Amino acid sequence: MKVKKFGGTSVGSAARIKNVAALISGDGCNVVVLSAMSGTTNSLVEIAAAVKDGDCARALNLVDELAAKYDAVISELYADASAKAAAKEITDNIFGQLRQLAAKEYSAQLEKEIVAKGELISTNLTNCYLHETGVKSVLLPALDYMRIDLHGEPDMEYIGTHLKELLAANAGADLYITQGFICRNEKGEVDNLQRGGSDYTASLIGAAIGADEIEIWTDIDGMHNNDPRFVEDTRPVHNLHFEEAAELAYFGAKILHPTCILPARMHNVPVRLLNTLDPSAEGTLIENKMCGNAIKAVAAKDNITAIKIKSGRMLLAYGFLKKVFEIFEKYETSIDMITTSEVGVSLTIDNERNLEPIVEELSRLGSVTIDRDMVIVCVVGDLEWKNRGFEAKALEALCNVPVRMISYGGSNYNISFLIRKEDKVRALRMLSYHLF
Ligand code: ASP
Ligand code: MG
Repeated sequence: MKVKKFGGTSVGSAARIKNVAALISGDGCNVVVLSAMSGTTNSLVEIAAAVKDGDCARALNLVDELAAKYDAVISELYADASAKAAAKEITDNIFGQLRQLAAKEYSAQLEKEIVAKGELISTNLTNCYLHETGVKSVLLPALDYMRIDLHGEPDMEYIGTHLKELLAANAGADLYITQGFICRNEKGEVDNLQRGGSDYTASLIGAAIGADEIEIWTDIDGMHNNDPRFVEDTRPVHNLHFEEAAELAYFGAKILHPTCILPARMHNVPVRLLNTLDPSAEGTLIENKMCGNAIKAVAAKDNITAIKIKSGRMLLAYGFLKKVFEIFEKYETSIDMITTSEVGVSLTIDNERNLEPIVEELSRLGSVTIDRDMVIVCVVGDLEWKNRGFEAKALEALCNVPVRMISYGGSNYNISFLIRKEDKVRALRMLSYHLF
């Protein structure tokens, strides 16, 4: 059994839903995870924001606008009047619930219930369409098995038991459809796996049922060796180790959500990235296997802030770094990159929310310098330290770019460079030119 996940643009219109239906029918009894149609989760977030502002009229207007969009999708999607009526009944019901939610008083919980509706709609519409075309698909309600614990971590045991029960109870289906993104929390309330979380759903399902493979279907033919928005002639990378994929996903390759890697990796389920617009393209296979001896890809992460703390007190002292880290821990800010010298430490963050108090407290340890609008460029590949030459090549490619920090040796898979935003495109192009 495979898990196949289709993102928002892949189910973004009636035509695209038909395309997905064609891709999933007749390919065995698999679990298909769907995102909300593209734009829907953003609209739902907007509705919740209107409720938060106390602007019920606006919230209701937005609900009506969204409902009208779905009416258009329904009239295009189904040929059969009874399928159309079945789909309409389901969406009317969901939009009715949304209108009720929009009239309530705002709470974080209310927002979660509002944003959960997108996946409920897309899966129902697709399921009705499959039925119309004669496919015996069964909808598995994610809210019946997907669960996070007190710390927001997936409750693997609960997920595994309940999902397997559901599958057993619906044995004999042609295939299963389920919602990405949504779940329940430890109290049983509706919750979600954070924006972009449908990849995570697919990975959790794959891990829980020990799937043969997890397929992530998007609009590009796999993970590319550089950012196609800035660099010409990028190519898909056909094989990646989980760790390489994790670095790339975290450091900017938008195709795969970073959280998706861990469950698949831990349960040793390969992940394949495929293209709905070109289904026969090879894509990218991510597994616990290293195809060595090469630099595979480059990615960049924007909006990075570098912080340098310099102090004579660091010289030959122990416990200095601990004090630094404790400040970041206190303000719940994660550190991406770090380099040290005898008298100072530089590190980067991608979230300036608590920068002011962080800097204030760091200033008690030494002099603090901030560099904003920086970019981490991450070079990923077989960078095991005993290999020779790869680091030199990457450095050579950047010989005309001012580099603020370099981090190497944290894993066997990456070197990261911190550079200025204005140098990013040039750096990415130079790396492609020198490395691929
Ligand atoms: N629909 C959710 C979002 O837009 C989850 C996803 O698409 O992965 O964030
Ligand atoms: Mg080396």
